[in-house]
Amino acid sequence: MVERTWSLACNACGKCCNSPPALSLREWFAHRSVFIGSVAIERVAPRRAGERLVAGGIEHVLDAQDVEDHDALANTLFHRASGREASWISVTLQGYDYPSSARCPALAQDGRCTLHDAGKPTRCAAVPLDPLVPDGWQAVALGARRDGIRALGADCIREGVEALAIPLLDGARVIDKQALERDRAALVFERKVWRDALAAALSAAPASLAALAPGARLTMPPVPALLTVARVSPACHAACLDIIGKQRALIEASVAAALVRRRHDERAFTQELRGFAQAYARAFDELSRSPTPNSSDPPFARDVESWLGVN
Ligand code: SF4
Ligand code: SF4
Repeated sequence: MVERTWSLACNACGKCCNSPPALSLREWFAHRSVFIGSVAIERVAPRRAGERLVAGGIEHVLDAQDVEDHDALANTLFHRASGREASWISVTLQGYDYPSSARCPALAQDGRCTLHDAGKPTRCAAVPLDPLVPDGWQAVALGARRDGIRALGADCIREGVEALAIPLLDGARVIDKQALERDRAALVFERKVWRDALAAALSAAPASLAALAPGARLTMPPVPALLTVARVSPACHAACLDIIGKQRALIEASVAAALVRRRHDERAFTQELRGFAQAYARAFDELSRSPTPNSSDPPFARDVESWLGVN
């Protein structure tokens, strides 16, 4: 175990808000006119006892308990990958924007988060802790994040306890786990809403994942998630049509702004966003033609509607 204390002296400078965050489907629905959504697919590598994790000057050698904790968390949050022993596929929603913008679209000019009082994403609330790794390794995650934040000109993640700073870790114990647990709970609930269905579809086409190395990422429009959710109930169907309209408008505005900037290095991303827009257009036609669904499981439909705020 890593035995160090850590704290966060955040002055809300906004420097770490340099890209759109990971989102739950619920958060994306709530902020549908702020974030272009994408689905990010990554392979999560198996861990072995004796493996050394090193980041930001922090070293941690995994023991059997660490591996057990990792596997338990991975089995909860991710999906088993077919074809490779003990690896997982992570399927998550991710805000998406031109990398050249180097800022989250929810970031105000004064460095504040415009969503702070309107439902800041749980992933952001957990920063600098990482909900996707076991609590016993958070010091390594903090070491890595401290390096990244220092490169942005901030020095807010500190080893030790400071009077005006928020305590993060006491040895291997996370001081306040609320944000971590909320983020993990959203991932778990949304397994049955859309993530399990998408992971199953990916597993049925293993060639698409075969070349995906640990750490590499595939990105796709969240259309399959919307088509799955639209089948839950009439209210979900209507909400998915609405979000498709909002996303098409957001993408159109984003591409139009890029065309004005005329940056050569943005062309590939513009093409990708046009592909998203085409996928949304097809999904809109499909949903417009399909009959409004009758729920086969009314209690589940009510839970999903309530979760997504569409009831
Ligand atoms: S970079 Fe550090 S100080 Fe600035 S907003 Fe992020 S966590 Fe806070
Ligand atoms: S949603 Fe708010 S806290 Fe999260 S990255 Fe964007 S500006 Fe920062």
